[in-house]
Order: sequence, then structure tokens, then C-alpha cells
Amino acid sequence: MRKALIAANWKMYKTPAEALAFVEAFLPLVASHTRDEIVLFPAHVSLPTVIPAVKNSNVLVGAQNMHWQAEGAYTGEVSAGMLTSLGCTHVLIGHSERRQYFCETDEIVNQKLKTALANDLVPVVCVGEHLDEREANRTEEVLRRQVGRGLINIAPEEAGTVAIAYEPVWAIGTGRTATPELAAEAHLIIRSQVAQMLGREFAEKLRILYGGSVKPENAPALLNQPEIDGALVGGASLDPASFAKIVQYTTF
Ligand code: PEP
Repeated sequence: MRKALIAANWKMYKTPAEALAFVEAFLPLVASHTRDEIVLFPAHVSLPTVIPAVKNSNVLVGAQNMHWQAEGAYTGEVSAGMLTSLGCTHVLIGHSERRQYFCETDEIVNQKLKTALANDLVPVVCVGEHLDEREANRTEEVLRRQVGRGLINIAPEEAGTVAIAYEPVWAIGTGRTATPELAAEAHLIIRSQVAQMLGREFAEKLRILYGGSVKPENAPALLNQPEIDGALVGGASLDPASFAKIVQYTTF
């Protein structure tokens, strides 16, 4: 059984004070929840506020992005060492918004992934096709390329903690959700690509999350799909009650 990872991606929302207010409202709602791993991804400026606020709880904190170099003249960037020094445990890599607006390529994803693993951060590597690629029946090709290049030159013993988030770009922030069957189909492609690269045993343990307009209403159907090992939630994770409902999805 793969333990599901339910993650909140707050993108460029919430000041540190607003992030703290979320945590204070959210922690009591999920205090007894042990079934799934819960991770919040606030903006960098809120990390020093959110990390101490979740201490001794069942909630972990990750960063939305980082540079692959240890340090250097990279204005505006943060390093893996800076994140771990704060107590960050996870990091998002290659979110489609980073690929689209900040020109992140599969090669950059690969460099960041290696750095995250070397620094004991749990990387959540995001992949997913655009609408025109799906409509042109290119979903499999896109996913195999993103996973193939993103995870290249990484040995199974190094890659232990990596998780992948399948986020079809047409479903992010649009209110359009992939059906559980369609998401599961994509997850099987990703798992088969990972099996080719890192072996079947590794692929069977790999957590593949779904992301794209996950809401309290559609979370149970998605998360009960055996191929879906968690969710990366944007908009619906900004409200504590809504995100708590997603975390506490009923199993059937
Ligand atoms: C995301 O930010 O990764 C995401 C899936 O956003 P939303 O849930 O708003 O579609």
C-alpha cells in the first residue's frame, strides 16, 4: 500500500499572517488524521512562519521551487540548503506554471531533482500535457518525455523518496477535472516509464499524485482510484475547511 500524499500548493497567495491563520484553523480539523501524509507548500516568505506553527503536528511543509545550485549569484533564488535549514521537508519541481512562465525545461527539472535528493528533500516532480497535446493524442509521448528527461541519470537507490504529480495543464485552475479513469490511464503511462528507467519494484512503490481542480466534491472519486496516490491541490487548498475535507475523503 502506498501512503497517499495530499498537498496544498498555495502558489502566490497568502501573506505570512494569512498563512498562519490558515494553519491555526486547519490543524485542529486534521489533528487525528494519520491515513495520509499532509504537506503545505506556502510561498517562500511564509516558510519561517508556517514551519514552526506546524511543529509537533501531522502536517509537513515544503517549498514551491528552489535553485539547483548550492549558492551563487542567482538573484531572487533560494537553495535547497536554505530550505532545509528552515525545516522544509518537501519541494515542488517543474510545476506547469514554472515551465510555462519561467521557462523551466525537463533538463532544469532533472538538475533540481538531483539537488533535492542530495539534500534529503522529498521532490514532487510535476508533469502533464497541454490541451492541444491531449487533443492531438500526444499525451503518452509528452508524459514519457517529461518523465524520461526529468528523471534521467538517477539511480533507484538515489531516487527513493521522489513522488510525481500528474497535472494535466488543461485542468489546473480551470474547474475542469480529469475523470478518475483518465487520470489513472495517465498514471499507468508514468508508472510504466518509471519502471523502464528505475525498475518495476521502484515503480510499484512510487507515489503518483493527481492535480487539476481537485475539490472536496471530486476528491473521493479520484483518490479511491488505486492508481492515484494523493492529490496536489491549488485553489481548493486555500481555505482550511475545504482542504481538510479533501484530506478526509471517504474511502469506498
Ligand atoms: C496546482 O496548483 O497544482 C493545481 C492543481 O491547481 P488547482 O487545484 O487550482 O487546479
